Amino acid sequence: MSDPFFHPVSGFDLPRFAGVPSFMRLPHLTADHPRFADVEIGLVGVPWDSGTTNRPGPRHGPRQLRDASTMIRAQHPVTGQRPFETANCADLGDVGPNPADIQDSMARITAFFDQLAQNEIRPLTAGGDHLTSLPVLRALAKNRPLGMVHFDSHTDLFHSYFGGTMYTHGTPFRRAVEEGLLDPKRVIQIGIRGTMYDAEDRDFAKATGIRIVEIEEFFDRGVADVMQEARDIVGDQPAYVSYDIDFVDPTYAPGTGTPEVGGPNSFQALQVCRALAGLDIVGADMVEVSPPFDASGGTAFLGVSIMFELLCAMLSER
Ligand code: MN
Ligand code: MN
Repeated sequence: MSDPFFHPVSGFDLPRFAGVPSFMRLPHLTADHPRFADVEIGLVGVPWDSGTTNRPGPRHGPRQLRDASTMIRAQHPVTGQRPFETANCADLGDVGPNPADIQDSMARITAFFDQLAQNEIRPLTAGGDHLTSLPVLRALAKNRPLGMVHFDSHTDLFHSYFGGTMYTHGTPFRRAVEEGLLDPKRVIQIGIRGTMYDAEDRDFAKATGIRIVEIEEFFDRGVADVMQEARDIVGDQPAYVSYDIDFVDPTYAPGTGTPEVGGPNSFQALQVCRALAGLDIVGADMVEVSPPFDASGGTAFLGVSIMFELLCAMLSER
């Protein structure tokens, strides 16, 4: 049971549009707060998009996701799960990046998440572009490589961009495998689609044992069957969940830098998360929400709705 200090503000007590927005209306606290060490799940913003190779904007993601997250209520509609009563959840603020220096930003992000790991706080991160996952994994996978369930329309497994630039949002998981942060045989990528530069990323996956479920296979087999395979691949060992909002069809999630048509709808976007219940999830992220392209705010609302699903999966019975 969680401490009432960590319960979110209810819409019955203060209307959702009122107050200073924090993730899911949870208490906001920083590392110097006396209750910091009592936090079990930390919601963290990483307002950073220096890895973006195309249309920028995810640096503005955490602020809009926080605002949209005030719409989230306390109870899961299907399972009845009440995650905020299961564990102490809190908004731990944003990592301050250095928007002019990728390496310095990654060092700052890793240092922030190191501190969470030392306090046994599991992070649920709001990005940021997808390069964000790499410095997070450097903190979470220090002692052993992790498995990963990765939802995306892209593999993000490229070697480099622009003649040798190794750190972009198209390369994080190539680096993570090279650095021993991920066990490629326990990695599954779901929803992959769109026109391609070439097959270099697919070749890397084949050579290392990463399982790619292209969108045709996803729709042929359906959510339940694909997600059962995902569960089998990561097994009962520690795993990370990385969720790029461009997994979802741009009809439902236009607010992102690199959209790809022909994707899952917003219901399927939630369904895939529900199938993660019971896995040993050491951390999760929601990345690539780009408010400048999210004219209706609907992409951010879908993003935080997915974050609530991920939170419930992280706190489900094992
Ligand atoms: Mn991605
Ligand atoms: Mn993507």
